[in-house]
Amino acid sequence: MATCPLFWYTDGMSLINSIRVGPVNYRVEQKRLENEGDREICGTISYTKGLIEVSDKVERDTYVGTLMHEIVHAAYYHSGLKQPKEREIEALTTIFTRFIQDNSEFIKLIQEVNFRPTP
Ligand SMILES: [Zn+2]
Repeated sequence: MATCPLFWYTDGMSLINSIRVGPVNYRVEQKRLENEGDREICGTISYTKGLIEVSDKVERDTYVGTLMHEIVHAAYYHSGLKQPKEREIEALTTIFTRFIQDNSEFIKLIQEVNFRPTP
């Protein structure tokens, strides 16, 4: 789950419809999410339903950050690792997002090679 710090609206169109993490193709939907107490929820993930929901109240940058946050949760889940604290998820979200942004050549190379670790 990602807590949402911002209150900007998008047009409700999800930028991504599905994303694969480990063995699961997650459906990605953008919709109005209920608050948890005074916390604005930006995103949720259901491993059993294969569903990631992102708030329709976020702008593009937060959408990407939220989706990556849920992907890191999914990576832990599908690795069989215990879910860490939210701040650890956030730290990895930041690192991996920057890594992908900063290393497009390497990302392209990964997509080209035949190395396919089993999930
Ligand atoms: Zn979370």
